[in-house]
Amino acid sequence: AKNKNGNSYSFFEEQFQTLLGKQTELESDIIKAIDNDEIVAYFQPQITFDGNIKSCEALIRWFHPTKGLITPDIFIPIAEQFGLIQKLQNIVLKDICMLINKLASLNLINETYSVALNISQYQFVADNLKSNILSIINEFHIPPSRIKLEITESMFSQDLGQTIQQMQTLVSEGFIFSIDDFGTGYSCLSTLQTYPISELKIDKTFVNNLTQKNITALPIIETIINLASNLNMSVVAEGIETKEQFEALKDKGVDTIQGYYIAKPMSAEDYLIWHSQNS
Ligand code: C2E
Ligand code: CA
Ligand code: CA
Ligand code: CA
Repeated sequence: AKNKNGNSYSFFEEQFQTLLGKQTELESDIIKAIDNDEIVAYFQPQITFDGNIKSCEALIRWFHPTKGLITPDIFIPIAEQFGLIQKLQNIVLKDICMLINKLASLNLINETYSVALNISQYQFVADNLKSNILSIINEFHIPPSRIKLEITESMFSQDLGQTIQQMQTLVSEGFIFSIDDFGTGYSCLSTLQTYPISELKIDKTFVNNLTQKNITALPIIETIINLASNLNMSVVAEGIETKEQFEALKDKGVDTIQGYYIAKPMSAEDYLIWHSQNS
């Protein structure tokens, strides 16, 4: 097939077929990966400016035997497309539960310590989200209050009533909600307060733009902090990579911070060591 630009159409088709081939290959790879324990959760601490460890975020990792580390941005969308996302979420949740029980048994955490679990839009609308999460955490005797569900603003552009209802049933069980990548999506500010949200997570693009010379992102960050404080929500800043960014955000009202400057995402084993050495 040719279009008016010569054979670029068939070129496109070829590219598309290659992409499809790669996707199918990845799909069968994901199924194998689940069976072979190639997929695990990593953990990145969230701390206060004076160094108290408040929580951590679970971030999925796939160590492929030949392809090496595959990042979630690549395989999460494919897992969703092929109906494998719940299996992956369960792996992450079990790793979270094991970490929490380990930390508790070593007396390293108090009741308020929580672990953040990323929930994609696709997962959020699933009917069995609550029952699935509950069945796993119950198995490990972990209360829902230890689990912080990170969703993005995109959930708010969906059916308003349904989103609030889904959030409320989870909150009534004791789960906590954090809004990830806040400030990048399209949030209708007037409805923000109708959602049961505990925390706003300032997107790392705002933090990344902060340098000693360039503080143009600061007014936006300060606005988010004010908004959160007026709505009784706490604030996390993610993506802090430098001392400069740390200093720029200090005393601005950010509750907790996360980023390479504090620690990179670590295996459960390394996180346990880091946590015990820093608490
Ligand atoms: P996210 O939830 O916004 O996660 C933050 C990303 O920033 C992570 O990338 C993290 O490793 C990275 N990061 C942490 N500190 C810094 C820093 O100081 N600088 C920079 N530049 N980056 C930093 P990662 O682990 O590759 O995850 C990418 C995305 O994949 C996540 O974005 C999240 O949307 C998704 N994801 C990760 N784990 C899961 C999961 O278990 N379930 C679902 N549904 N999605 C997940
Ligand atoms: Ca997140
Ligand atoms: Ca984020
Ligand atoms: Ca994201």
